[in-house]
Amino acid sequence: MSIQESSPKSATSSADVLPDYAPVPPSSLGPALNDQGYYVGRVERNLYWVTDGSYQSAFLTTKDGVVLFDAPPSIGGNIRRAVDEIASANGVSNKVTHLVYSHHHADHAGASSLFDKNVIRIGHEETKRLLVRDNDPARPVPEETFADRRTLKIGGERIELEWRGPNHSPDNIYIHFPDHDTLMLIDIVNPGWAPISMSNLSEDIPGYIAAPAIALDYPWKHFIGGHVGRLGTRDDLTLHQQYMADIDASVRKALVSVDPTPFFQKYGDNPWAAVGALFDAWTEAGAAPVIEKYKGVLAAADVYTQSTVFWVMESIRLDLGFASYVHP
Ligand SMILES: [Zn+2]
Repeated sequence: MSIQESSPKSATSSADVLPDYAPVPPSSLGPALNDQGYYVGRVERNLYWVTDGSYQSAFLTTKDGVVLFDAPPSIGGNIRRAVDEIASANGVSNKVTHLVYSHHHADHAGASSLFDKNVIRIGHEETKRLLVRDNDPARPVPEETFADRRTLKIGGERIELEWRGPNHSPDNIYIHFPDHDTLMLIDIVNPGWAPISMSNLSEDIPGYIAAPAIALDYPWKHFIGGHVGRLGTRDDLTLHQQYMADIDASVRKALVSVDPTPFFQKYGDNPWAAVGALFDAWTEAGAAPVIEKYKGVLAAADVYTQSTVFWVMESIRLDLGFASYVHP
């Protein structure tokens, strides 16, 4: 075999050999980005959101300066530009005085160090512990922390921070703006879109599945989910809950209807081969009807449902003990 023949296909693969997916429903898309690659818009009154089409950040302009909520590195320097643009249009201060972390993950906090040392960073105490552990200069540790809940009053504005248990990450918090009819909850619901890999890469699936109901308990009209190009509504959360409930029901059905016996007969002395093939079979059986139902409803349902089904299936087996077999 020549070197050319054995070179990896992926190194030379072109766009035309990559798989096709269902078109993105127009309602899943957000406003167009400007030449610098961002969009900044008003959520309500002096609360604004910024997106690059994939990530979201938010800020409040107050009489004492700007309070920033998350600093995703993909938006990066455009956070500063968006703040400057809004502050100059409204004749208010563009000085960022506070930065609230939703959770410790680098993809939502990694541009924190762009803001100067005088910014007061606020986060959950677990966010602080994890950031101390991770020791990443891009994400300075919060100076101010809280355990269960904290009300911030900054420049005459009210912000309610609350930790309701682990979900996507151990430290992910609910950020409620009671005077702006808005809830910010990151990495749980992607409005108009399926969750990405394995339920938005969530560490605690029972907590992840419970989170939208907690979110809906707050009064609000606008939802900042941290991802995709548009804001969300209460209907987006309800649709997401239905999607996750359908996955749960479909997984339970697959777990009791796919017979493991032939997998172990075939692979005898290699139980990992049997388990691997069985996991694949359970995942495929669980995912198929859900993909069928949500294709064209939630963008990328055909891209990511299988991955989320796998992770929910493992939680149903391991956290809930469903279909657990006790040797007689
Ligand atoms: Zn995250």
